[in-house]
Amino acid sequence: MKNIILIAPPAAGKGTQAKLIASTYNLPHISTGDLLRKEINDQSEIGLQVKAVLDSGKLVSDDIIFTLLENRIIESDCIGGYILDGVPRTLVQAEKYLKMIEKLNYPLGDVIYINLPKEEARKRIVGRLSCSNCGAIYNDQFEDMKPITFETCDKCGEHLIKREDDTDQVFNERFQIYENQTLPLIDFFTSKGVLFTVNSGINKEATFADVKKVINRGNYDCN
Ligand code: AMP
Repeated sequence: MKNIILIAPPAAGKGTQAKLIASTYNLPHISTGDLLRKEINDQSEIGLQVKAVLDSGKLVSDDIIFTLLENRIIESDCIGGYILDGVPRTLVQAEKYLKMIEKLNYPLGDVIYINLPKEEARKRIVGRLSCSNCGAIYNDQFEDMKPITFETCDKCGEHLIKREDDTDQVFNERFQIYENQTLPLIDFFTSKGVLFTVNSGINKEATFADVKKVINRGNYDCN
């Protein structure tokens, strides 16, 4: 059983790496954010309880997270392992997760920390622009990612848009939550001897090359 936990600051590309690992190693990608959004879409009892919490950006109660998580990781497609994206998110969740896998007799596996300096993360978020027509992505904080003409798509000429929550203020709030709640997990998993750090590279392929080195070091089969 190959279990992988991903930890990363905002904008490091954690979800993208989770998807790449999932398709390369044929492991299910378990995102607690996705599990919660599914509950909301299904209008389940849990979905109704958590909708307002997700809208506020605060954390959902551990009871709900661990109910959803346990139900998911005991499904048959997890028999060969799984990738966790978005959980554990706090030290308390890390302790609870260890208890849960001990009960299930699952291995802890690898914890991969995708490192990205704060100022780089800020630029990736606040500079983000996308085309409302063709979906092309730009970033006005990086010379090689700027559109040729101000706020205009190079590909189709349509006006580029910025997401409303891609602001300095929202970034600072998200990063502070990450620093206070999630960053302590680095020391926690280092002390367990399972933490591997890779740098968030210039693109997803560069980062994934390093992620694969971590996963493959144990000669785990790569398709
Ligand atoms: P994400 O898709 O990981 O950004 O998660 C979206 C939202 O789901 C978060 O802002 C939280 O409200 C909630 N959430 C996801 N994972 C957790 C978790 N491990 N603990 C508590 N809340 C979570």
